[in-house]
Amino acid sequence: MSTDKQMKNVSGSSESDLLKNLQVSAQEVLEVAQKKGRSKCPKCNSSRMFYCYTCYVPVESVPTAEIPSVKLPVKIDIIKHPNETDGKSTAAHAKLLAYEDVTVYTFPCIPDYDNHKHETILVFPSPNSVSLRESLKYLTGQSSPKEDCEPTLKRSKLENQATDTGKDAVTESENIDCLKKVVFIDSTWNQTNKIISDERLQGIKII
Ligand SMILES: [Zn+2]
Repeated sequence: MSTDKQMKNVSGSSESDLLKNLQVSAQEVLEVAQKKGRSKCPKCNSSRMFYCYTCYVPVESVPTAEIPSVKLPVKIDIIKHPNETDGKSTAAHAKLLAYEDVTVYTFPCIPDYDNHKHETILVFPSPNSVSLRESLKYLTGQSSPKEDCEPTLKRSKLENQATDTGKDAVTESENIDCLKKVVFIDSTWNQTNKIISDERLQGIKII
């Protein structure tokens, strides 16, 4: 059980500010759909509740116009293990809300990141993983001089904040322009090994 005090210690003030500032859309549309029960996917005609986890679109009882569309600052690739149950995957929610910026791949059909390793990070718990802050420093170093993100990355500020609570937080003044894509793995733990060891993912900075 966690008390408010413990929660505050864990989350820190920046996270509670983030939650306070979230713009949450009205959920009436989902309540109405729930009363109607399962409905058809407009693409594959399967009977689903709220959304189709195969086509990543809302079902007919959920008007697309009433579902928020989020523009993300980076592109997201989600690599899904083929044995994962589609209906249980939370990757679908990201694709539903940010359709243009999120791509879901089913392993082993994944992109070749060879020409994009200098602007891509992979989110995965690993002995080699670094903080988001560290990864941005790394990507900055990897950028070609022409792109040159270095001057806008405020190093003195980074160093000062290293002793603050938000070790991994990146402030608005810090430049994340070097980061174009974030890759996630959607799989149960015992199935991640095959994906994370795939040669196409080697050399991508892990956070
Ligand atoms: Zn469908």
